[in-house]
Amino acid sequence: MITCKRGRELDAMRVSGRLAGEVLRQVAAAVVPGISTRELDALARQLIDEKRATPSFLGYRGFPAALCVSVNEEVIHGIPGARRILPGDVVSIDVGVFYQGFHGDTATTVLVGVSDPDILRLVDATRRARDAGIAAVRPGAKLGDVSHAVEQMVRQTGCSVVRDFVGHGIGRQLHEDPQIPNYGSPGRGPVLKVGMTLCIEPMVNLGRPDVSVLRDGWTVVTQDGRPSAHFEHTVAVGEDGAEILTAV
Ligand code: MG
Repeated sequence: MITCKRGRELDAMRVSGRLAGEVLRQVAAAVVPGISTRELDALARQLIDEKRATPSFLGYRGFPAALCVSVNEEVIHGIPGARRILPGDVVSIDVGVFYQGFHGDTATTVLVGVSDPDILRLVDATRRARDAGIAAVRPGAKLGDVSHAVEQMVRQTGCSVVRDFVGHGIGRQLHEDPQIPNYGSPGRGPVLKVGMTLCIEPMVNLGRPDVSVLRDGWTVVTQDGRPSAHFEHTVAVGEDGAEILTAV
């Protein structure tokens, strides 16, 4: 069942979304050579705590951190630890914030001293694919229109869409209906209605789309070892199109 948020619920989503966006911005700014992914997680926990909020991911199905940090061939769900960021790394950061009953969820990919044009193309493609998906959001559109817009943007760049993981609805639960694939056919799927809140989050690989999950049970990696990128916003379906809740 896809829930629609109204009035105070939507106001609460705006607050949790903005908090998530602020945490992500500050953690992304802290990604420099030498910092460990555990230190990034500690920063996220501190920032979330200062906002009197709770990390959405910590303890979710047993996930052990507030932040997902996925480096290079890691696609999503990387577990923070002793690894230190090196020059040339592609660092995807995903954070969820729970505040007064509602979640916000957002992700970005940070490049640390990367000049490889293929990687710049990958990251640009992923951001633009997310934004193309968001641009397709309006009342009366179908969910497949959003999925298709994301996929088309990625295809134009020669990169590939990860198919094994998808975006999702969000609200009182971190993951709500509907699932939002980053590929699909226009005119298919549920009709978007005002008040739906959605996480649009393409995961895009420079090489092949195939991914595997590591033995830690979480970390998703590309099978060909080539880099991946991930961008995500939480949006609400508004009368005139998407309202981006995690923008700061
Ligand atoms: Mg998400």
